[in-house]
Amino acid sequence: MSAIDGLPPLREVIAAHGLQAKKQLGQNFLLDLNLTARIARAAGDLSHCDVLEVGPGPGGLTRGLLAEGARRVLAIEKDARCLPALAEIAEAYPGRLEVIQGDALQIDPLAYLNPPIRIAANLPYNVGTELLVRWLTPPSWPPFWQSLTLMFQREVADRIVAKPGGKAYGRLAVLSQWRTDARIVLTLPPQAFVPAPKIDSAVVHLSALPEPRFPADPRILSEIVAAGFNQRRKMLRASLRGIAPGIEDLLLGAGIPPTARAEEIGIEAWCALARTVARARQNAAAT
Ligand code: SAM
Repeated sequence: MSAIDGLPPLREVIAAHGLQAKKQLGQNFLLDLNLTARIARAAGDLSHCDVLEVGPGPGGLTRGLLAEGARRVLAIEKDARCLPALAEIAEAYPGRLEVIQGDALQIDPLAYLNPPIRIAANLPYNVGTELLVRWLTPPSWPPFWQSLTLMFQREVADRIVAKPGGKAYGRLAVLSQWRTDARIVLTLPPQAFVPAPKIDSAVVHLSALPEPRFPADPRILSEIVAAGFNQRRKMLRASLRGIAPGIEDLLLGAGIPPTARAEEIGIEAWCALARTVARARQNAAAT
Protein backbone atom coordinates (compact mmCIF):
# COMPACT_ATOMS: atom_id res chain seq x y z
CA MET A 1 0.00 0.00 0.00
CA SER A 2 1.51 3.36 -0.93
CA ALA A 3 1.49 5.98 1.80
CA ILE A 4 -0.38 9.29 1.54
CA ASP A 5 2.94 11.16 1.29
CA GLY A 6 4.35 8.98 -1.51
CA LEU A 7 7.24 7.95 0.75
CA PRO A 8 8.16 4.29 1.25
CA PRO A 9 6.70 2.23 4.12
CA LEU A 10 8.66 2.64 7.36
CA ARG A 11 9.91 -0.95 7.34
CA GLU A 12 11.65 -0.20 4.01
CA VAL A 13 13.01 3.10 5.33
CA ILE A 14 14.53 1.31 8.32
CA ALA A 15 16.05 -1.40 6.12
CA ALA A 16 17.35 1.07 3.52
CA HIS A 17 19.09 3.26 6.12
CA GLY A 18 20.23 0.48 8.47
CA LEU A 19 18.29 1.85 11.43
CA GLN A 20 18.51 -1.13 13.77
CA ALA A 21 17.11 0.07 17.09
CA LYS A 22 19.60 1.01 19.79
CA LYS A 23 18.48 0.34 23.33
CA GLN A 24 20.66 3.04 24.88
CA LEU A 25 18.78 5.65 22.80
CA GLY A 26 15.39 4.32 23.94
CA GLN A 27 14.54 3.36 20.38
CA ASN A 28 11.19 1.62 19.95
CA PHE A 29 9.84 2.65 16.57
CA LEU A 30 6.23 3.00 15.46
CA LEU A 31 5.85 1.60 11.95
CA ASP A 32 2.10 1.87 11.46
CA LEU A 33 1.34 5.17 9.72
CA ASN A 34 -2.36 4.89 10.63
CA LEU A 35 -1.31 4.87 14.27
CA THR A 36 1.07 7.80 13.91
CA ALA A 37 -1.71 9.73 12.12
CA ARG A 38 -4.00 9.02 15.10
CA ILE A 39 -1.39 10.36 17.50
CA ALA A 40 -0.95 13.45 15.31
CA ARG A 41 -4.73 14.01 15.32
CA ALA A 42 -4.76 13.71 19.12
CA ALA A 43 -2.43 16.72 19.17
CA GLY A 44 -5.31 18.94 17.98
CA ASP A 45 -5.55 21.34 15.06
CA LEU A 46 -2.00 21.66 13.77
CA SER A 47 -2.71 23.74 10.70
CA HIS A 48 -1.62 27.08 12.17
CA CYS A 49 1.00 25.64 14.51
CA ASP A 50 4.69 24.98 14.63
CA VAL A 51 5.20 21.54 16.14
CA LEU A 52 8.23 20.49 18.17
CA GLU A 53 8.96 16.78 17.90
CA VAL A 54 11.66 15.19 20.04
CA GLY A 55 13.17 11.95 18.79
CA PRO A 56 11.65 11.53 15.31
CA GLY A 57 13.73 8.39 14.61
CA PRO A 58 12.84 7.10 11.12
CA GLY A 59 10.01 9.65 11.00
CA GLY A 60 6.72 7.78 11.46
CA LEU A 61 5.18 10.41 13.74
CA THR A 62 6.87 13.21 11.77
CA ARG A 63 5.05 12.02 8.67
CA GLY A 64 1.79 11.88 10.64
CA LEU A 65 2.23 15.45 11.89
CA LEU A 66 3.00 16.79 8.41
CA ALA A 67 0.20 14.83 6.73
CA GLU A 68 -2.22 16.13 9.36
CA GLY A 69 -1.32 19.64 8.31
CA ALA A 70 1.28 20.98 10.73
CA ARG A 71 2.47 24.38 9.49
CA ARG A 72 6.06 23.43 10.35
CA VAL A 73 7.75 20.65 12.29
CA LEU A 74 11.02 21.10 14.15
CA ALA A 75 12.44 17.66 14.91
CA ILE A 76 15.35 17.15 17.30
CA GLU A 77 17.05 13.77 16.92
CA LYS A 78 20.18 12.56 18.69
CA ASP A 79 20.94 9.64 16.37
CA ALA A 80 22.74 10.85 13.24
CA ARG A 81 21.85 7.58 11.45
CA CYS A 82 18.25 8.89 11.15
CA LEU A 83 19.16 12.08 9.27
CA PRO A 84 19.04 10.71 5.69
CA ALA A 85 15.57 9.20 6.28
CA LEU A 86 14.38 12.50 7.74
CA ALA A 87 15.89 14.41 4.79
CA GLU A 88 13.64 12.38 2.45
CA ILE A 89 10.60 13.51 4.46
CA ALA A 90 11.78 17.13 4.33
CA GLU A 91 11.98 16.81 0.54
CA ALA A 92 8.42 15.46 0.34
CA TYR A 93 7.17 18.44 2.41
CA PRO A 94 9.22 21.39 1.11
CA GLY A 95 9.90 24.11 3.67
CA ARG A 96 7.90 22.41 6.43
CA LEU A 97 10.39 20.14 8.21
CA GLU A 98 13.56 21.28 9.93
CA VAL A 99 15.74 18.67 11.59
CA ILE A 100 18.34 19.40 14.23
CA GLN A 101 20.75 16.70 15.23
CA GLY A 102 21.52 16.78 18.94
CA ASP A 103 20.38 16.12 22.47
CA ALA A 104 16.95 17.63 23.15
CA LEU A 105 18.01 18.25 26.76
CA GLN A 106 20.75 20.60 25.53
CA ILE A 107 18.93 22.47 22.74
CA ASP A 108 16.70 25.51 23.21
CA PRO A 109 13.99 24.98 20.57
CA LEU A 110 12.53 28.45 20.97
CA ALA A 111 15.09 29.97 18.66
CA TYR A 112 13.60 27.85 15.84
CA LEU A 113 9.86 28.09 16.52
CA ASN A 114 7.08 30.61 16.04
CA PRO A 115 3.89 30.62 18.11
CA PRO A 116 1.44 29.02 18.36
CA ILE A 117 3.50 25.96 19.25
CA ARG A 118 2.48 22.42 20.07
CA ILE A 119 4.75 19.60 21.18
CA ALA A 120 4.24 16.00 20.06
CA ALA A 121 6.61 13.10 20.57
CA ASN A 122 7.10 9.42 21.06
CA LEU A 123 9.64 10.19 23.71
CA PRO A 124 12.80 8.29 24.39
CA TYR A 125 11.99 6.68 27.75
CA ASN A 126 15.31 7.68 29.26
CA VAL A 127 14.68 11.42 28.88
CA GLY A 128 10.87 11.59 28.73
CA THR A 129 10.08 12.48 32.32
CA GLU A 130 12.88 15.03 32.53
CA LEU A 131 11.61 16.83 29.42
CA LEU A 132 8.03 16.75 30.69
CA VAL A 133 8.99 18.29 34.03
CA ARG A 134 10.96 20.97 32.20
CA TRP A 135 8.03 21.81 29.92
CA LEU A 136 5.70 21.92 32.96
CA THR A 137 7.91 24.26 34.96
CA PRO A 138 8.80 27.20 32.70
CA PRO A 139 9.87 30.54 34.18
CA SER A 140 6.38 31.97 33.62
CA TRP A 141 2.88 30.82 32.72
CA PRO A 142 1.35 30.37 30.13
CA PRO A 143 4.28 28.40 28.68
CA PHE A 144 5.64 28.65 25.14
CA TRP A 145 3.52 25.66 24.08
CA GLN A 146 -0.24 25.21 23.79
CA SER A 147 -0.28 21.45 24.25
CA LEU A 148 1.90 18.41 24.79
CA THR A 149 0.97 15.10 23.16
CA LEU A 150 3.43 12.57 24.44
CA MET A 151 3.95 8.83 24.45
CA PHE A 152 5.09 7.36 27.76
CA GLN A 153 5.33 4.02 29.44
CA ARG A 154 1.80 3.30 30.68
CA GLU A 155 2.92 3.54 34.28
CA VAL A 156 4.26 7.09 33.75
CA ALA A 157 1.07 8.11 31.91
CA ASP A 158 -0.96 6.82 34.87
CA ARG A 159 1.15 8.94 37.24
CA ILE A 160 0.49 12.08 35.15
CA VAL A 161 -3.31 11.75 35.29
CA ALA A 162 -3.60 10.16 38.76
CA LYS A 163 -6.09 11.47 41.31
CA PRO A 164 -5.40 11.67 45.06
CA GLY A 165 -5.64 8.52 47.13
CA GLY A 166 -3.51 6.01 45.25
CA LYS A 167 0.10 5.00 44.73
CA ALA A 168 0.26 6.62 41.27
CA TYR A 169 -0.58 10.06 42.69
CA GLY A 170 2.54 12.11 43.32
CA ARG A 171 4.64 15.05 42.22
CA LEU A 172 4.07 14.40 38.51
CA ALA A 173 0.26 14.46 38.94
CA VAL A 174 0.32 17.72 40.92
CA LEU A 175 2.76 19.42 38.53
CA SER A 176 0.76 18.29 35.50
CA GLN A 177 -2.76 18.92 36.69
CA TRP A 178 -2.13 22.24 38.45
CA ARG A 179 -1.70 24.07 35.14
CA THR A 180 -2.91 21.72 32.40
CA ASP A 181 -5.83 19.52 31.47
CA ALA A 182 -4.19 16.10 31.25
CA ARG A 183 -5.77 12.95 29.87
CA ILE A 184 -4.75 9.63 28.37
CA VAL A 185 -5.94 9.59 24.76
CA LEU A 186 -4.57 6.27 23.52
CA THR A 187 -3.06 3.14 25.01
CA LEU A 188 -0.81 0.88 22.97
CA PRO A 189 0.31 -2.70 23.46
CA PRO A 190 4.01 -3.63 23.16
CA GLN A 191 3.42 -5.08 19.65
CA ALA A 192 2.74 -1.57 18.30
CA PHE A 193 6.50 -0.96 18.42
CA VAL A 194 9.62 -2.41 16.82
CA PRO A 195 11.28 -3.76 18.83
CA ALA A 196 8.41 -4.45 21.25
CA PRO A 197 9.10 -3.09 24.74
CA LYS A 198 8.16 -5.20 27.78
CA ILE A 199 5.38 -2.88 28.89
CA ASP A 200 2.29 -1.10 27.55
CA SER A 201 2.55 2.52 26.45
CA ALA A 202 0.08 5.39 26.45
CA VAL A 203 -0.28 8.78 24.80
CA VAL A 204 -1.07 11.64 27.17
CA HIS A 205 -2.46 14.95 25.92
CA LEU A 206 -1.85 17.93 28.19
CA SER A 207 -3.32 21.26 27.19
CA ALA A 208 -2.03 24.36 28.95
CA LEU A 209 -4.61 26.26 30.99
CA PRO A 210 -4.46 30.04 30.52
CA GLU A 211 -3.70 30.31 34.22
CA PRO A 212 -3.08 27.89 37.08
CA ARG A 213 -6.15 26.23 38.60
CA PHE A 214 -5.33 27.76 42.02
CA PRO A 215 -2.89 30.51 42.92
CA ALA A 216 0.47 29.43 44.35
CA ASP A 217 4.15 30.31 44.05
CA PRO A 218 5.50 27.60 41.68
CA ARG A 219 8.80 27.25 43.55
CA ILE A 220 7.17 26.83 46.95
CA LEU A 221 4.58 24.44 45.54
CA SER A 222 7.35 22.33 43.97
CA GLU A 223 9.32 22.37 47.20
CA ILE A 224 6.47 21.23 49.47
CA VAL A 225 5.18 18.64 47.02
CA ALA A 226 8.69 17.17 46.60
CA ALA A 227 9.20 17.08 50.38
CA GLY A 228 5.78 15.54 51.00
CA PHE A 229 6.08 12.80 48.39
CA ASN A 230 9.75 12.03 49.09
CA GLN A 231 8.54 10.61 52.38
CA ARG A 232 5.06 9.66 51.30
CA ARG A 233 4.49 7.16 54.11
CA LYS A 234 5.07 9.79 56.78
CA MET A 235 2.47 12.20 58.11
CA LEU A 236 2.86 15.68 56.64
CA ARG A 237 3.74 17.21 60.01
CA ALA A 238 6.88 15.03 59.87
CA SER A 239 7.72 15.04 56.15
CA LEU A 240 7.31 18.84 55.92
CA ARG A 241 9.09 19.67 59.17
CA GLY A 242 12.01 21.28 57.34
CA ILE A 243 9.79 23.57 55.24
CA ALA A 244 9.02 26.21 57.86
CA PRO A 245 8.83 26.55 61.64
CA GLY A 246 5.36 25.76 63.02
CA ILE A 247 4.41 23.55 60.06
CA GLU A 248 1.49 22.03 62.03
CA ASP A 249 -0.16 25.45 62.28
CA LEU A 250 0.53 26.16 58.63
CA LEU A 251 -1.08 22.86 57.65
CA LEU A 252 -4.12 23.65 59.81
CA GLY A 253 -4.24 27.14 58.29
CA ALA A 254 -4.50 25.52 54.87
CA GLY A 255 -7.27 23.22 56.09
CA ILE A 256 -5.02 20.12 56.05
CA PRO A 257 -4.89 17.75 59.05
CA PRO A 258 -1.21 17.54 60.13
CA THR A 259 -1.62 13.75 60.38
CA ALA A 260 -2.58 13.44 56.67
CA ARG A 261 -0.16 11.88 54.17
CA ALA A 262 0.91 13.47 50.88
CA GLU A 263 -1.13 11.16 48.68
CA GLU A 264 -4.38 12.21 50.38
CA ILE A 265 -3.93 15.89 49.52
CA GLY A 266 -5.60 17.31 46.40
CA ILE A 267 -4.09 20.07 44.27
CA GLU A 268 -6.29 22.81 45.76
CA ALA A 269 -5.05 21.99 49.27
CA TRP A 270 -1.40 21.79 48.12
CA CYS A 271 -1.81 25.29 46.67
CA ALA A 272 -3.45 26.57 49.89
CA LEU A 273 -0.47 25.24 51.83
CA ALA A 274 1.98 26.87 49.40
CA ARG A 275 0.23 30.19 50.14
CA THR A 276 0.34 29.81 53.94
CA VAL A 277 4.04 28.86 53.71
CA ALA A 278 4.70 31.91 51.49
CA ARG A 279 2.95 34.19 54.00
CA ALA A 280 4.84 32.69 56.95
CA ARG A 281 8.16 33.22 55.17
CA GLN A 282 7.25 36.81 54.28
CA ASN A 283 6.30 37.51 57.91
CA ALA A 284 9.52 35.93 59.14
CA ALA A 285 11.56 38.03 56.69
CA ALA A 286 9.76 41.23 57.80
CA THR A 287 10.50 40.74 61.52
N1 SAM B 1 9.42 8.99 16.97
C1 SAM B 1 9.93 7.71 16.52
C2 SAM B 1 8.79 6.72 16.40
O1 SAM B 1 7.74 6.99 16.98
O2 SAM B 1 8.98 5.69 15.78
C3 SAM B 1 11.03 7.20 17.43
C4 SAM B 1 10.68 7.06 18.87
S1 SAM B 1 11.92 6.30 19.86
C5 SAM B 1 10.92 5.79 21.24
C6 SAM B 1 12.82 7.65 20.60
C7 SAM B 1 13.71 8.47 19.66
O3 SAM B 1 14.35 9.50 20.41
C8 SAM B 1 14.82 7.70 18.99
O4 SAM B 1 14.85 8.01 17.63
C9 SAM B 1 16.12 8.19 19.69
O5 SAM B 1 17.25 8.15 18.87
C10 SAM B 1 15.73 9.60 20.05
N2 SAM B 1 16.46 10.15 21.21
C11 SAM B 1 16.91 9.50 22.31
N3 SAM B 1 17.46 10.36 23.18
C12 SAM B 1 17.34 11.59 22.65
C13 SAM B 1 17.70 12.90 23.06
N4 SAM B 1 18.29 13.11 24.24
N5 SAM B 1 17.43 13.95 22.25
C14 SAM B 1 16.82 13.74 21.04
N6 SAM B 1 16.45 12.53 20.60
C15 SAM B 1 16.69 11.47 21.37
